[in-house]
Amino acid sequence: MAYDPDNIFAKILRGDIPCKKVYEDDHVLAFFDIAPKTPMHVLVIPKGAYVSHDDFSANATDAEIAALTRAAGKIARDLGLAESGYRLIANAGENGGQEVPHYHVHILGGAYVGPMVSRR
Ligand code: 5GP
Repeated sequence: MAYDPDNIFAKILRGDIPCKKVYEDDHVLAFFDIAPKTPMHVLVIPKGAYVSHDDFSANATDAEIAALTRAAGKIARDLGLAESGYRLIANAGENGGQEVPHYHVHILGGAYVGPMVSRR
């Protein structure tokens, strides 16, 4: 699947639409989800144009991959989630339920997140 430069997260990265930023570095932007599923719900995205975890894991540089993983851990700690616990989710493709085609990791916490999966 080719990267769509008009996806909503690409627009956030360009500053075309606003976000509530929680973290930024050379490779990563993180912001609060617009429709939080738990009291704390943050999206962590690479600045590079990667469609999904499949694309990111195959084509991102080691520096980009390390930056995203480190950032997710730091954000969770900085938001006070490390002690109480949290869940990381990366939905990929149709069966994964991915809606926005720019790779992102969800950080969910602030309350018990619930069962690991539910299937329709
Ligand atoms: P996915 O289903 O692709 O894993 O998750 C996409 C997430 O992006 C959803 O949780 C959805 O609420 C969030 N989202 C969609 N549009 C926007 C937006 O314009 N701003 C923000 N902050 N989050 C968005």
